[in-house]
Amino acid sequence: MSKTKKKKLVAHDLDGCMCDWDGAMKRDLTAMLLPGEASLPPILDPNVPEYRDRCEIIKGRPGWWLNLVPLASGFKLYELVKEIGFKSQVLTKGPRRFPMAWAEKVQWCAAHMPGVGVNIVMNKELFNADVLIDDFPPYNMKWLDRHPNGLVIMPDRPWNQWWNHQRAFRYRDGVEEPADFQLVKAVLEAKFNE
Ligand SMILES: [Mg+2]
Repeated sequence: MSKTKKKKLVAHDLDGCMCDWDGAMKRDLTAMLLPGEASLPPILDPNVPEYRDRCEIIKGRPGWWLNLVPLASGFKLYELVKEIGFKSQVLTKGPRRFPMAWAEKVQWCAAHMPGVGVNIVMNKELFNADVLIDDFPPYNMKWLDRHPNGLVIMPDRPWNQWWNHQRAFRYRDGVEEPADFQLVKAVLEAKFNE
């Protein structure tokens, strides 16, 4: 009797992976700087008290989530996993206080990743996949704990420099780092063929 091979699945984070949340937030916060505030810190934590209220206003603007700009590096990985044979699903956190963002995330995916399944969740670690692509270490840590055979691909970002893990592979996009792409490709192929 032949065994049917289970489809292998990749979960793609949106903000910071497929779309430029940080760039949009910095652009809009810069427009709201107060007299005496020279510029934003290079690594923006939207939860620090100085910026939290303004970040909340920005996140509640109609169309803000829908108009986030796609990131080439995310789409390069999206194409790569498809080419290898993985199935893709979007796995993104739904902000509790902004239900409109949930709707706009669905619309964003329809516009930029037509046909892909969209999973908007509060706890990413509860989602089963073979590979998680995510830029945020706390989500990666929790997901890896729950998925002892899982693999993480982490797009290289200023806010995730502090974290590494045996089963997490950093992806520096851009032509200057083709070695990262080759490594990521090799680990994904090995995972697919397991
Ligand atoms: Mg993210």
